[in-house]
Amino acid sequence: MIDERLSPYGAESPQALTAQVYDDYKQFVNPPLARVMKLSGSPVEVRAEGCTIWDQSGKAYLDFAGGYGVFTLGHRHPRVLDAVREQLDRIALSGKTMFNVMLGRAARRLAELSPGDLQISFWCNSGTEAIEGAIKLARAATGRAKIVSTIDAYHGKTLGALSVSGREPFQSKFRPLLADSVVVPYGDAGALLPALNDAAAFVIEPIQAEGGVNVPPAGYLSAVRELCDRTGALFIADEVQTGLGRCGYRFACDRDGVVPDVLTLAKGLSGGVIPVGAFIARPAVWLRAFGDAPLVHTSTFGGSEIACAAALAAMDVMDAERLVERARERGEELLAGARAIAADYPVVVREARGLGLLVGVELTHEGYGGFIIPEMLKAGVTVAWTLNQQRVIRLEPPLIVSAAEVARALAALRDAVAAAYDKLGTLPAQAAR
Ligand code: PMP
Repeated sequence: MIDERLSPYGAESPQALTAQVYDDYKQFVNPPLARVMKLSGSPVEVRAEGCTIWDQSGKAYLDFAGGYGVFTLGHRHPRVLDAVREQLDRIALSGKTMFNVMLGRAARRLAELSPGDLQISFWCNSGTEAIEGAIKLARAATGRAKIVSTIDAYHGKTLGALSVSGREPFQSKFRPLLADSVVVPYGDAGALLPALNDAAAFVIEPIQAEGGVNVPPAGYLSAVRELCDRTGALFIADEVQTGLGRCGYRFACDRDGVVPDVLTLAKGLSGGVIPVGAFIARPAVWLRAFGDAPLVHTSTFGGSEIACAAALAAMDVMDAERLVERARERGEELLAGARAIAADYPVVVREARGLGLLVGVELTHEGYGGFIIPEMLKAGVTVAWTLNQQRVIRLEPPLIVSAAEVARALAALRDAVAAAYDKLGTLPAQAAR
């Protein structure tokens, strides 16, 4: 079993593979990250399917980190794999000088799925690129420069996206960032109106994912829509993490029934098999920005046949397997279970919150997380911090997860929280956000 899994990697033993990959990371990938991952006992992933990842020793892990939202369909969904394999036998990457059938079809299908009159899409390879494109589109469409975003937002790490991702440690080495970037508190419509004056756009996650799974008050997104209309700023909804079923809605914006001017996607869009990103805009907005300049925003790899074939299959699976409804049902079980743990261990867990299968468990002190995450890993469940809030552990499994798997992850979380309390006792509570 183990040998069969290791042989494609050319390793003689699990120990040999671990030593080799650690050395590669230390010398050639990221020396400080190699150290941190080694210290936290990070295994080596060698195979994955559905909700499960196997490590170098053949141990199975229930994947509740879910690639930070990539694996909505689970790992290696057979329909996506088949679509990619078939496409590989025809044409893989676009030659660029001719029409690309799969791009046209994927763009049409995305428009059919998207809310309201969102219609014209640009396809790229990551979430941060989708945001870059949306910012450029907003500037070009409005002739204004200012981009408003929210404190603790996460939109990516290329320079434009980083300028609207409000976390000091990620920004500080790279200043000056994009001029005219302004932040407002998340979920506070009152603070937004003055900031929107003369702004090109307001970039907002319908639920702040990396900021600690923050769900805004009901009516916030409708107020955003209204304020953007009043000021002429474009409403850019970043659904890179919340889109395509994750939150128990096709798009998290659907919860409030609002239609943004631009919507960004990546992660789950191509079913967890090929990297992809996209932004989709209302036709009038798109044409105002790029209508006279077809090559002003381009990407060599973006919209490749294999990525679009994967995306088409993934969009079909979302409907065929009722993933939106399943995310809502399993999400309710997951959130209820996490809230019960919070109620039983208030010293360790301040709150559990979320929507659908994006659930955050906020600890009273981040020191507990440093214990709970490795403890859950030992029990065979992967979970992760949120990038901008290290006191919040995210639970973000594939939308195909079963009720039994949700129960198993919750049991592992309960045991880890209990063990954290037994081992660490009462840590000084850190101020809530
Ligand atoms: N926007 C949101 C809401 C995200 O969660 C992320 C990634 N966590 C990004 C943008 C950036 O995506 P990528 O890492 O693919 O560039």
